[in-house]
Amino acid sequence: MFSIETKIISNEKINKEKLKLAEEIISNLQNETLDRIEKGYGPFLAAIYDENGNLISKESNSVIENNCSNNHAEMNAIKSAQEKLNTYDLSKYNLKIYITAEPCIMCLGAIMWSGIKEVYFGVNSKSVEKITGFDEGFKPNWLKEFKKRKITVYGNIKLKKGEEVLKTYVNSGKPIYKPERV
Ligand SMILES: [Zn+2]
Repeated sequence: MFSIETKIISNEKINKEKLKLAEEIISNLQNETLDRIEKGYGPFLAAIYDENGNLISKESNSVIENNCSNNHAEMNAIKSAQEKLNTYDLSKYNLKIYITAEPCIMCLGAIMWSGIKEVYFGVNSKSVEKITGFDEGFKPNWLKEFKKRKITVYGNIKLKKGEEVLKTYVNSGKPIYKPERV
């Protein structure tokens, strides 16, 4: 009902193998998000894998827990991966990031700077905003801009289930944090 865009979106010709793997990983991340919401984390989770399928990092949104507006799941996962691999440039590792929702304006920049090569996300930003009230920011033509920079993007993966996870967060009465705009 909340879905504005329901089809898989991508900035390349859809590769079924990549999509199948992403569906599996994002589905697992969605289940884990539900557990982590119980523990006080935000309703978003991101995992970074290398080209051989090894998990490099997996982090939740921890804005509230750490009192830091930077601490979106993607930001935390990128920071962990760079610490683990001891580099600010992840490009030589051919990494993929899997996220339960579309990256916001801040995280797009972080992904671009990190050297990650592939992005897979669940719920699109329009739907996130509609369900939760979070402001995901302005991101004109970002799939195209990422393509120019040789970053592959797939989105709307396991969308329905992802929307259910977000509704669970909202219905639990947990905070929708954002700055005052008056
Ligand atoms: Zn973000």
